[in-house]
Amino acid sequence: VTRALIVGGGIAGLSAALALGELDYSVDLVERNDTVEALGSGITLITAAMRALERLGVLRECIDHGYGTSEVGLHDVDGDLLAVVPLPQALGSDVPGVMGMMRPTLHRILLDHAVSRGFTVRTGLSPEEIVDDEAMATVSFSDGSQREYDLVIGADGIRSTVREFVSGSLSAQFQHQVCYRAVVPRPASVTREIVFDGFKRVHIGFTPTGDDSMYIYCLVPADDMNRPPDAEIPSLIRGYLKPFGGVVPELCDHIADPALVNFTVLETIVAPKPWFRGRTTFVGDAAHSTTPHIAAGAAMCLEDALVLAEELKANENIAQALESYTTRRFDRCKFVVETSAQLGYWQTHPDTVGADPQALIGGALEVLSAPF
Ligand SMILES: Cc1cc2nc3c(=O)[nH]c(=O)nc-3n(C[C@H](O)[C@H](O)[C@H](O)COP(=O)(O)OP(=O)(O)OC[C@H]3O[C@@H](n4cnc5c(N)ncnc54)[C@H](O)[C@@H]3O)c2cc1C
Repeated sequence: VTRALIVGGGIAGLSAALALGELDYSVDLVERNDTVEALGSGITLITAAMRALERLGVLRECIDHGYGTSEVGLHDVDGDLLAVVPLPQALGSDVPGVMGMMRPTLHRILLDHAVSRGFTVRTGLSPEEIVDDEAMATVSFSDGSQREYDLVIGADGIRSTVREFVSGSLSAQFQHQVCYRAVVPRPASVTREIVFDGFKRVHIGFTPTGDDSMYIYCLVPADDMNRPPDAEIPSLIRGYLKPFGGVVPELCDHIADPALVNFTVLETIVAPKPWFRGRTTFVGDAAHSTTPHIAAGAAMCLEDALVLAEELKANENIAQALESYTTRRFDRCKFVVETSAQLGYWQTHPDTVGADPQALIGGALEVLSAPF
């Protein structure tokens, strides 16, 4: 039996655990937090994410607990509908073009399936040292224990320590935007993905996540990476939403609870190739961290997990499998990060000559909806 360690219980780590379930692996997953859970926000899943969830055997459950739609409504700042753009249903008529769901629900589904396949999930634990001598990776943990593994997978996010072990220290690039999100009740009139025209470089939109819920995002230009105090975030969001009309004022009345809002500084990383050293590799945001402009970050995490498992199945030699995994993933993930960053740049520099965000988004979603 091949022994694998997955570091990190985010979307990438949990989906890697599920994908390795297809192979005869014994998997330990360690998460440094005391629980494996996600922010109480929503997430938008594009076709590429849904295809990967299908391959992991959890798409139906996700659809049952989410809100699918195959349309984007474009609104002006006053809230008037300008156009409805249909989204292709590349996976068939019973799978929506896009789906929203609550992040904790997606996490719970992935975790339940991973645990039901018998993987050990240990929380409150981090690797402190990895000694990878090509014959074996020996990992020393923060509780003083030590274990040997045939494969170590870093799924430990943008500030990955596993990536640092493989590739050395890398800095994330601040993209001069921050994202505020708020979970609110879904009004009956919001039945599709909604995007508003920008107002003074502030860009907002909604994703329905269920019969009773949706989330609002606000992308705001920022000169620095300072985080506002948690208690001020609801009123800051209401302030950014103030110029927008339609259903927005009614939604603002529900933005008060600091537990239902969050704030994230937008940063990007594309780790240089190769994404492995010896028997140690990394997946998800550890390898490529994107801004949310085409909602493709989670899709890339899920695809990484599947491709890694496919290559481990196809190649007996782990180094060869990790080389093929890097080769198959690098360009596609870099494309997502660069396309998303370009869209962010255009939002913060609205006078850029030749900017055509709708064309760039449409083209990118078409590329990503093709199999990987
Ligand atoms: C504002 C914003 C909105 C987004 N919206 C969308 C969207 O709508 N759709 C979409 O597809 N993508 C979206 N994304 C991207 C998506 O959220 C990420 O790509 C994805 O969540 C990354 O998952 P991950 O598992 O790689 O990393 P993470 O979610 O960062 O998980 C890493 C995990 O590893 C743990 N960890 C870290 N270090 C250690 C350690 N040393 N030891 C043990 N555990 C450790 C952490 O505690 C964490 O649980 C968005 C991103 C942002 C910033």
